[in-house]
Amino acid sequence: HSLYTDRDIFLREAVSNASDALNRLQFETLTNPDVLDPDAELAIRIFVDSEANQLTITDTGIGMTRDELIENLGTIAHSGAKTFIEALKARGAAGNATDIIGQFGVGFYALFMVADEVRVTTRAYQPGSEAWTWISRGDNQYTIQPAEKTTRGTEVSLTLKEDAKEYLSVFRLERIIQKHSNYVPFPIYVTDKVEEAESEPVNQQVALWRRTPREVTDAEYDEFYKQLTFDTLPPLARVHLNIDTPVQFYSLLFVPSRADRGLFQMQDNAEAGPRLYARKVLIQEHAKDLLPQWLRFVEGVVDSEDLPLNISRETVQANRVMARLRSTISGKVIAELDSLAERDAAKFATFWEQFGRLIKEGVATDNDNRSKLLKLLRFRSSRTVGEADDAWVSLADYKARMVDGQTDIYYLFGEDVKSLARSPHLDIFRARGIEVVFLTEPIDSFMINAVTEFDGASLRNGADGDLELPAVTEPSAEDKPTLDEAHLQDVIGRFRTVLGDKVAEVRESKLLTDSPARLVSAEKGFGADMERVYRMLDKPFDAPKRILEINPRHTLIRSLASDRHADIRDAVIGQLYDSALLAEGIHPNPANMIPRIQALMEAATRQDQPDQDVPPQA
Ligand code: ADP
Ligand code: MG
Repeated sequence: HSLYTDRDIFLREAVSNASDALNRLQFETLTNPDVLDPDAELAIRIFVDSEANQLTITDTGIGMTRDELIENLGTIAHSGAKTFIEALKARGAAGNATDIIGQFGVGFYALFMVADEVRVTTRAYQPGSEAWTWISRGDNQYTIQPAEKTTRGTEVSLTLKEDAKEYLSVFRLERIIQKHSNYVPFPIYVTDKVEEAESEPVNQQVALWRRTPREVTDAEYDEFYKQLTFDTLPPLARVHLNIDTPVQFYSLLFVPSRADRGLFQMQDNAEAGPRLYARKVLIQEHAKDLLPQWLRFVEGVVDSEDLPLNISRETVQANRVMARLRSTISGKVIAELDSLAERDAAKFATFWEQFGRLIKEGVATDNDNRSKLLKLLRFRSSRTVGEADDAWVSLADYKARMVDGQTDIYYLFGEDVKSLARSPHLDIFRARGIEVVFLTEPIDSFMINAVTEFDGASLRNGADGDLELPAVTEPSAEDKPTLDEAHLQDVIGRFRTVLGDKVAEVRESKLLTDSPARLVSAEKGFGADMERVYRMLDKPFDAPKRILEINPRHTLIRSLASDRHADIRDAVIGQLYDSALLAEGIHPNPANMIPRIQALMEAATRQDQPDQDVPPQA
């Protein structure tokens, strides 16, 4: 019992054996029309007998002789299908046997998960064959006796265990068949012995994914998607593949219109991954190894003739074919997303808003696909601030807009677009008309770490202290009045005294225009972005010291050089530093600023209004 976790699949095993037997009969009749009951419908019939507590699965397949019964069902390790394929190979016709499912002999024993006793009554396809019944209670013993059966094929009768009576419900059986065996290529009928009403086939039979893509309508695709996912919205995009090399497979995959809750948290999402069929039989409900982790939002079906339907269903990832499927499929999905972006920008924007984080995760983690994924990235930028919500920038858009002399792509990390739009780091880019990409998600740090360039342009952090930018052409910063060297050194000295070892250094900024000060990293590697991530994860870390750059052209800095403000100068310096921390989104405790801000406000109001103007106390 340990081979299987889900008891329902006993039915899948019985049905796939029946389907297998029907396939083999079909194959036999290609060359040999002389079979018992040549006109019998190739079908699987399931009968429910609640009174007798029995479930019977019948087929009009190839049947078994007495010897075959012993050989096929007698030993767990023996597989009749495997012997059959070997025999075919010997005959040089293996290419025609690909529909034969099953390579090992464990499937049948799944029936004992639900049955106390299994009776197999069978009559082989040869005219004049005898019928036999094989009986076992799953205890390594069995008996065989002659039987009365006038028709071709096999009848597998289960006497259900006390705790398996749920399988006496026609409805329940139908649901299991639709879930696990919907695309078995023979009709499956389920009938209640008492009610005796012969139903329509329960299963779909024709696999949509095996049809030629241009013959399937949008409505059919959408309906199939809904059956598969129970999603109420139609899918955003789909990929229908019919591939022959290097691995043969069919695949029909969908990108949903919205991200399920929990998709981002569940790194090891058990519910992720397409259904995996080998030769139309469901092997795995969620084959998460079929796609890289970051593609865990993709739903659908993969069906390969090259995968063995063997006992290690639950450990199918070890298979070599899987690796090939994986790389082919992920490449095709990326290509489809690429083409969606070109065809329909609005739809792609929806996709990006729902799943963009997973694309970024792909850039961060998937070495094989990284370069292809860069094209899919979308950002807000200094240029799209204030524009409509759907204004997204791709790296290609950005490159096309680079100014004369610009060779790099600049980005800034921040807590959100609004605070980034006010970042002091933007000064220098604004003055030069250079666009800056805004990065606001925790994953962005990991993503950027994995990317060095896009289409020949390096990616650079706009908050780096040692950026070299083209000179400003328009009159602005350089023309503003500034501090002379002696006063500048005084002010810098004052900053150093007040801030002490909170900063690695205080220095003049040659680049800042509108902002009084900014913090830049003293060393590469642990930027403000990483610091924010650590804080968010509540991880202990040593906050690295940063360089405070001050702008001697700013009135606030210049006024610090004068003695008139000596009383509040240190408070201003402290506040400038705290404000710079805030702008970086790395202030450890903003509430600590309150007393100082209050003192500064008091000072400001005192200076504006001479004492006598203050209203008398009540
Ligand atoms: P597998 O299907 O992987 O070969 P199973 O344990 O499911 O292994 O079945 C063992 C063998 O029993 C099959 O290979 C087949 O030869 C035989 N068998 C089982 N069910 C049927 C059936 N309904 N008709 C004919 N042969 C069957
Ligand atoms: Mg089987």
